[in-house]
Amino acid sequence: MSIWAKTILVTGASRGLGLEFVRQLLELPTPPEVLIAACRDPEKAENLQRLAKSNRAVKIVKLDVEKDDEIDKTVEVVSNYVGERGLNLLINNAGILYKQLPGNIADVTREIMQKHFSVNVTSQVMMSQKCLPLLLKASSLSGSNELSTSKAAVIMISAIRGSQTLINAEGPLGFIHYKCSKTALDMATVLLARELRDVGILVTALHPGWVKTDMGSSEAPLGIEESIRDCLQTIGRAGEESNGKLIDLKGNILPY
Ligand code: NDP
Repeated sequence: MSIWAKTILVTGASRGLGLEFVRQLLELPTPPEVLIAACRDPEKAENLQRLAKSNRAVKIVKLDVEKDDEIDKTVEVVSNYVGERGLNLLINNAGILYKQLPGNIADVTREIMQKHFSVNVTSQVMMSQKCLPLLLKASSLSGSNELSTSKAAVIMISAIRGSQTLINAEGPLGFIHYKCSKTALDMATVLLARELRDVGILVTALHPGWVKTDMGSSEAPLGIEESIRDCLQTIGRAGEESNGKLIDLKGNILPY
């Protein structure tokens, strides 16, 4: 297995899955030449700083995905780092889940709903839009017609909890704010995938499993290392068959 993407941008890289993406990408047999790790507060992201100190491919940029000026600055910085190579892979990982609320009809608020849509959907769409020229550059350099993450791709880190089919069948109630936002992210994935297919950009939503992170909690069955190891194998193999789809960490297509 290997990912051949030479230039990669990961959002939400301060901790949890985003940090582990960065760590394991560096351990691939063919690690990226440029790996931009975006996080809200680089000074506080000590584990990420350590990775950057020991590997020159890692470039840390300050990015709150809700802030348009920071997105613009990030794209400028990424453009400078990647140059003529363009950007092969954008991993839209940053996300939130307020667990203080059960998120049933009785307690959900407008503010909480809007916040989740802002971070988990709108920001992923805006990141994809702003990175588009860099993704197009990478895509245009490839001689191949096939879609792949080594050529040009956007991976939306989504969640099985956004699957209407599965929640309707047997899934737990609650967290309406989070689940609706991930369902909307999946729709964005479908639309972007169809729009960008002809310019050679793959767009896929990926469920990383229920993982022991701050968000997933210690009750989660999966460790971070295991989740990201499988996610990377799946991302490395992703192509036409997963374009516009929600897939899990093993590469299985999940129902929307
Ligand atoms: P964590 O809560 O552990 O980490 C979330 C990351 O997102 C942090 O790096 C955080 O940065 C960042 N983030 C939050 N808001 C913003 C923002 N406005 N701008 C930039 N970065 C932001 O979560 P996970 O690592 O578990 O989750 C990562 C992704 O995986 C999310 O999209 C989540 O929905 C998804 N997911 C996770 C599952 C799990 O079981 N863990 C299951 C299914 C999906 P900071 O440190 O600054 O707060």
